[in-house]
Amino acid sequence: MRAAVLEAFKQPLTVWNNWPDPEIGPDDVLVHVKANGICRSDWHLWQGDWDWNGITLPVPIVLGHESAGIVEEVGANVTRFRKGDRVVYPFNQACGNCAMCDEGSQHVCSNMIFSMFRGAGGFGEYNVVSKADVNLVALPEDVSFVEGAALGCRFMTAFHGVTQQGRIRAGEWVAVFGCGGVGLAAVDIASAMGANVIAVSRSADKLAKARELGAVHTVTASENTPQEIQELTQGGAHASVECLGTAATWMPALLSLRTRGRLVRLGMTGEDERGILPIPADLIVGRELTIVGSYGMQARCYPEMLRMIAAGVIKPSALVVETVSMEQVADVLQAMSDYGTLGYSVLVN
Ligand SMILES: [Zn+2]
Ligand SMILES: [Zn+2]
Repeated sequence: MRAAVLEAFKQPLTVWNNWPDPEIGPDDVLVHVKANGICRSDWHLWQGDWDWNGITLPVPIVLGHESAGIVEEVGANVTRFRKGDRVVYPFNQACGNCAMCDEGSQHVCSNMIFSMFRGAGGFGEYNVVSKADVNLVALPEDVSFVEGAALGCRFMTAFHGVTQQGRIRAGEWVAVFGCGGVGLAAVDIASAMGANVIAVSRSADKLAKARELGAVHTVTASENTPQEIQELTQGGAHASVECLGTAATWMPALLSLRTRGRLVRLGMTGEDERGILPIPADLIVGRELTIVGSYGMQARCYPEMLRMIAAGVIKPSALVVETVSMEQVADVLQAMSDYGTLGYSVLVN
């Protein structure tokens, strides 16, 4: 099959015409990828900077983990899906058999499976979905493949963070730090939930986009950001949603909270921080702050998100700024190096 292949870290991907077709087991399906979003996590992996995070990639490898497509082939044990079904699936696929899966938290499964380690991710024409009955989600006819592509990682990560981990409620002040793919999705979703959203970014373009998506205030990131948010909200945000992951947003996101506020952390650190950030420990005690992590979303929770998308209440399509060919994926990754992308670039086959 055709695939955009990572042959060497930080070097342009190469399109191969003869990448081996992925093979499926009895519990899996093969999906013909129609659209695939290009995510910040692909960029981190392409940079090769997650070794310290326990992710050392064998190369060559086919990345890509935000896919929507059509079921091409079905394993013998799969009962819920057939060839021809339109589908999406989370980037982190669950085993279906561990304690986390048993309690319904498949997104933090102890034996997580990633398509890229099974022969190809979404930068290829075909993709394997493991344990398809656990991990596959039917894509409604009224949600396009391009829109569906955003649902494999960034948009659903924001949905889980805002609705389940963040418990964002109508009327709350919610400060969203970082207006990349996850951050803009968080702005859209939190606004739809009735929150008063304040978007924070260094980029005027990203802040303009955040306003389009429902932010009631925007703040240009600076060392005064916490103070500005404390003033705007007369006492601090009820919740901060931290979407960038780096030291630049971490402390401001905490310092912008009101007493008993909560920080939802969606971003991941990079090579500079290697997973370790300072923490205002006494402030957390004195103000009874809560910090909660959020990682992806399990397939069983997709239907509520899909209903809101189908009804036009939340709009991943508003975040898609361009569709690109397999040959152009390398350029998109390069553009992400200076955080110059706005919204989602989606590979379309
Ligand atoms: Zn599991
Ligand atoms: Zn991602």
